[in-house]
Amino acid sequence: MNWFTQLRPKIRSFVKKSDVPDNLWAKCPGCEQMIFSKDLDSQSYVCRYCQHHFQIPVTKRMAMLFDNAEYSVLPMPSVISDPIHFKDQKRYVDRLKDASAKSGSGEAITVAKGYINGRLCMVSCFNFSFIGGSMGIAVGEALLMAAQESVSLGAPYIVIPSSGGARMQEGILSLMQMARSVIAVIRVKEKKIPFISVMTHPTTGGVAASFAALGDIIIAEPNAIIGFTGARVIQETLKRPLPDGFQTAEFQKAHGFVDMIVHRTELKSVIGNICSILCHESDKSGTTFLSSPSAFA
Ligand SMILES: [Zn+2]
Repeated sequence: MNWFTQLRPKIRSFVKKSDVPDNLWAKCPGCEQMIFSKDLDSQSYVCRYCQHHFQIPVTKRMAMLFDNAEYSVLPMPSVISDPIHFKDQKRYVDRLKDASAKSGSGEAITVAKGYINGRLCMVSCFNFSFIGGSMGIAVGEALLMAAQESVSLGAPYIVIPSSGGARMQEGILSLMQMARSVIAVIRVKEKKIPFISVMTHPTTGGVAASFAALGDIIIAEPNAIIGFTGARVIQETLKRPLPDGFQTAEFQKAHGFVDMIVHRTELKSVIGNICSILCHESDKSGTTFLSSPSAFA
């Protein structure tokens, strides 16, 4: 046994794996630069080299949107947690527990109210790290609750989806949330209260095909993927190549599905301005300005 063999266990115990967190750096999918995680946090999770928009924690997103980063989170409505007793590689109830521990959130959506540019607003923000931001009964119920609160307060309603679509572990009950979320939006529109959709990466499946597409104004973050079915499935079905940039926010804007693409750091000011214009017009004229998309043509 030489001196190094004797020393090695001591060196190993000194340099433990836990001393080196594996999330100190993030690789940008846009330009492949390595970015220090603390820098990413201070730069609103936007790459300073290529402006790629990373997914951003819900708490950080809310803090960016509301005045002085002050807001109150509404308690989630209680719902049945495993309606069809689903099980694949693991039980759905266990999957929910894991998702909760991993994301630090009880569900795939957070509803909060607070002031944006001095105006009381309701915000529903999806959390992609909770089972892909999928929409089950709890999410549908939260969307309805937020819409009801928006109507009670007369507060503009902003929804920020980031979702793979309906939650398969809840079967047909998750698909029913598409209709329920649309009803939620209709209740807001009937009262001529602004409803703004901010599509972030990715907004797909049953979420893209329901409430998210119904905004009076539809905003998207740069380069976010927006669409119903995945590009690969569409390409295999059509059996021909898809156009460049297919399903990106820029592609959807060019084809009229998205009204504007807004850099994350400008979202608060743009949303504030839109609410100000729409509320002013609604107060002044009392017309159906908000409920008719053609009014924006
Ligand atoms: Zn980059």
